[in-house]
Amino acid sequence: MDALIYLNGEKVDYENAKVSVEDRGFLFGDGIYEVIRVYNGRFFYLNRHIERLKKGAEQIYLDLDFGVENLVETIKKAVKESGFKDASVYVQVTRGAAPRQHAFPSNTKCTWLVIVREVKPQPQEYYENGVMAITVPDERWTRCNIKTVQLLANCIAKEKAKRAGAYEAIFHRGDIITEASSSNVFMVKDGKIFTHPANNLILHGITRYAVLEIIKNNNFELYEETFSKEKLFEADEVFLTGTMTEVMPIVKIDGKIIGDGVPGKITMKIMEDFRRLTETIDC
Ligand code: PMP
Repeated sequence: MDALIYLNGEKVDYENAKVSVEDRGFLFGDGIYEVIRVYNGRFFYLNRHIERLKKGAEQIYLDLDFGVENLVETIKKAVKESGFKDASVYVQVTRGAAPRQHAFPSNTKCTWLVIVREVKPQPQEYYENGVMAITVPDERWTRCNIKTVQLLANCIAKEKAKRAGAYEAIFHRGDIITEASSSNVFMVKDGKIFTHPANNLILHGITRYAVLEIIKNNNFELYEETFSKEKLFEADEVFLTGTMTEVMPIVKIDGKIIGDGVPGKITMKIMEDFRRLTETIDC
């Protein structure tokens, strides 16, 4: 079995997991999502993902009519039934199906989906040697803190990275580095760690937050401040954070070598602490 699916609280076969052609997720991208990682049967901050989903729902005036407790129970049940020890849980909630009109319909019920898939770890050499990134203009809207399914700008950016043989595309809005197509960006200069502040221009990553806690525990110097593209190229170390990305060192950007061209000391320490966290956290 490749994927275990619950649609609107019911377990369904892949072939029968279908939604209406007038679902607002399909027509308007009118929905939000989460991707949650399970390590050896333990949830990595499921609680924080649920809090972010609730916040996103409020921001788009979406009533989670099925009940958040119901969702959490369904997620836990689905992971257990899948038998997968290392898994990803994709959760999507849309405003449901209604005749196509921009304004929100009054009597629809949410469509809510849970997909559990087994996760194979990324190649070890990515973490050991680091990977490449490219930079691309951030062409998204200005509410990137909402984890909406409207991801076309992110998809285009990731496709550009793929075509360039790179792992990830790093966004710049004007001259400022915001985040990447599916991860947050950190850089280290002279022992100081910088990352874009958690405002409306980036997704407030769960992994980003876990890494901020690691940084504080290590007494590293942290600056949640914007930095320019130029500063990114002058960095000693650059790394990404994300649920599926984990903590990933970047050693080359737009063909230019970052630092010594190998994962830096601070990045390695954060990766090590992050790995340990994935072996303990279960909430
Ligand atoms: N930024 C963007 C644009 C993303 O899509 C993701 C991955 N969902 C992240 C950052 C990282 O967030 P998280 O650590 O919660 O997975």
